[in-house]
Amino acid sequence: MTAKLIKGTEIREEILEEITAEVAEIKEKHGVIPGLVTILVGESPASISYVTLKIKTAHRVGFKEVQDSQSVDIPEDDLLALIDKYNNDDSINGILVQLPLPKHINEKKILNAIDPDKDVDGFHPVNVGRLMIGGDEVKFPPCTPAGIQEMIVRAGVETKGAEVVVVGRSNIVGKPIANMMLQKGVGANSTVTVVHTGTRDLAAHCKRADILIVAAGVPDLVKPEWIKPGACVIDVGVNRVGEKPSVKNPGKMVAVLKGDVDFDAAKEIAGSITPVPGGVGPMTITMLMKNTLKSLKFKLGI
Ligand code: NAP
Repeated sequence: MTAKLIKGTEIREEILEEITAEVAEIKEKHGVIPGLVTILVGESPASISYVTLKIKTAHRVGFKEVQDSQSVDIPEDDLLALIDKYNNDDSINGILVQLPLPKHINEKKILNAIDPDKDVDGFHPVNVGRLMIGGDEVKFPPCTPAGIQEMIVRAGVETKGAEVVVVGRSNIVGKPIANMMLQKGVGANSTVTVVHTGTRDLAAHCKRADILIVAAGVPDLVKPEWIKPGACVIDVGVNRVGEKPSVKNPGKMVAVLKGDVDFDAAKEIAGSITPVPGGVGPMTITMLMKNTLKSLKFKLGI
């Protein structure tokens, strides 16, 4: 059997089109568009490329987008003042501070200064609490877990009553997706097990999973014999395992990426599976756009 591929690249296009249409409708009816600011401190090439992609996507869906670049030696107080400025700016619905920040700045202090109602990354303790309560309390689910849940739903996988096993318990992926899948509601209502390095028999838990979500950061951690035949496998891992010549830019090298699941063997057993790259990866920025649109809708009460 060859599994159905759940492609983040295709689902991203569907969602971005839905967002674009909704933005146009809100603009027509209410005369406003969502505003997203990305704050970049310093000039790390990786951070610049992430921010550029976020801004490009925001532009594509019709948002007001502001890129606020600050020097690497900005004092912490000045950065806090900048966040305060955007907290009070009515045209901005989402504030994103690109991480990591330079060492002299307390990252936690900065993230906690963002107005929870503009915290479209969903990392503020208020939003973590809202996610834990579930239901109508939830405002901004963190982007990668939100993308995972969206992929499961759009792939038509039954979640109600499903055994979900999550490998990994990080604050940005494992814990929030586990919490989301156990809530009562659409795309959830599952029985959830979370496994980690303290787990006695990882394989035994994985073998029970109707939906296996792997976010460990260990290439090929999950072996094909750990997968229940027909299961839905979501591979969140992105591991650089080497370099190869670029096809798009001859003469340049690009990273070879691998997930946490032995894909080639797993796809013969699973019912559906996400590839790496092109699986969960493209969903994160997509869900950032969705959260920013939601933020404006909350404000307008629609
Ligand atoms: P993390 O903070 O390093 O957490 C990894 C988790 O996996 C930890 O809870 C760890 O357990 C567990 N783990 C590691 N090795 C294990 C093993 N051998 N057996 C069982 N559990 C193990 O990583 P993360 O931030 O969640 O990211 C995980 C992966 O997803 C990375 O490859 C990352 O690049 C990728 N990622 C992708 C996206 C995206 O595509 N958009 C977004 C975020 C992350 P302990 O808690 O016991 O240490």
